[in-house]
Amino acid sequence: VNVLGIDIGGTRIKGGVVDAHGKLVRESAVPTPGDLSGFRNALSELRSSLVGGNAMGGVGIGCKGILDSETSQVLALPGTLHFLEGLRLAELGGFSTNVPVRADNDARAAMAGEMAWGAAQGRRDALMLTLGTGVGGAVVANGKLLRGAGSVAGHLGHMTIDADGPLCICGNRGCLETQFSAHAIEGQAMALVHRGCRSLLTERYRHRLHELTCRAVFECAAEGDDAARLIRDTAIRRLGSGIAGLLHILDPEVVIVGGQIAEAGEALFEPLRREIRWRTECLLRRAVPLVPPGVVDKSGVIGAASLVFGASLEA
Ligand SMILES: [Zn+2]
Repeated sequence: VNVLGIDIGGTRIKGGVVDAHGKLVRESAVPTPGDLSGFRNALSELRSSLVGGNAMGGVGIGCKGILDSETSQVLALPGTLHFLEGLRLAELGGFSTNVPVRADNDARAAMAGEMAWGAAQGRRDALMLTLGTGVGGAVVANGKLLRGAGSVAGHLGHMTIDADGPLCICGNRGCLETQFSAHAIEGQAMALVHRGCRSLLTERYRHRLHELTCRAVFECAAEGDDAARLIRDTAIRRLGSGIAGLLHILDPEVVIVGGQIAEAGEALFEPLRREIRWRTECLLRRAVPLVPPGVVDKSGVIGAASLVFGASLEA
C-alpha cells in the first residue's frame, strides 16, 4: 500500500505518493505560506490533490529544524517557518487519524530512505553527510536512527573542526559547515577575487562575483588553477579530518555522501577517500566504503515516506 510523503522546506512544501519499493508514483508542490492558517490550507490541498479518495498506508513528513519524532512536535525551527514551533505536524494537514503519521528532521528522513531502499539497506551502522549550502547529517547506530536526548543528534555539519574558526549560524565557531559547504567554499573564492589574487576565478568572476559558485571553484581547480586547487584541497582535507573523527567514534559500515557538491563525483570522492584512509587505517584496520546515496530523492519526499515504511519494518 502506498504512503504519502511530505517535505516541508523554507520555500516549497513538496508532496508525493510513494510505493513500497520507494518509487515516486505521483508528486506535487506548493509554495510555503508565511503564516499558520495558510500553512494548514496548503498542507490540506497538497494531501487532497495527491491522495484524493485513495487509501494510504500512512503519512511521513520531513521538516527542517529540530523535531520530536515521537510526537511530531516542532521543537525549534528558526527562519520563515518559526510559526510552527510548538505545534505537532501530524495535527496540521487534516490527515486521517486511522493511519500512522510520522515526522522527523529532513536529514534523518533522507537517512531513513537510505535504510529502506538505498546505500544503508541491511546496515546496522552508517553515516550520511549531505554537502550543500550547509552540511546535513544523520547517523544509524545499532540499527536505529540516532536522535539523542533532545532530538538534536546527527548534526554532523556542526561538529567543531577548527577551535578558532569562523562563526557559524549555530552560534559555535569553526563548525564543519564553515569549512566545507557551498557557502564556505564560495566565501573563500569571493574573498580571493576581491583581493585581486592571480587566478582563473579572478579573471572570470571579477565583474560578476554573484555568479561565482562552488561548482566554478571545482571547475577552475580541474583546469589546473592553483588558487582554486588550494581552496578545494584545503576544504576536502578538513572534511576528511572530520569524517575520520566520526569513523573513530561511530565505526560505521558505510559513509554515504550526498548533496549538490557530491555531484562532483570522483573529483571529490577520490581525494576524500585518501584523506580519510591515512587518518583511520591504523585504528580501523579497514577502508570504510564512501558512497553516493542509493535513493535519488531531490524532493526529500521518498525519505519522508520511508519514515512510515521504516517504522513498519521495525515492528
Ligand atoms: Zn555550527
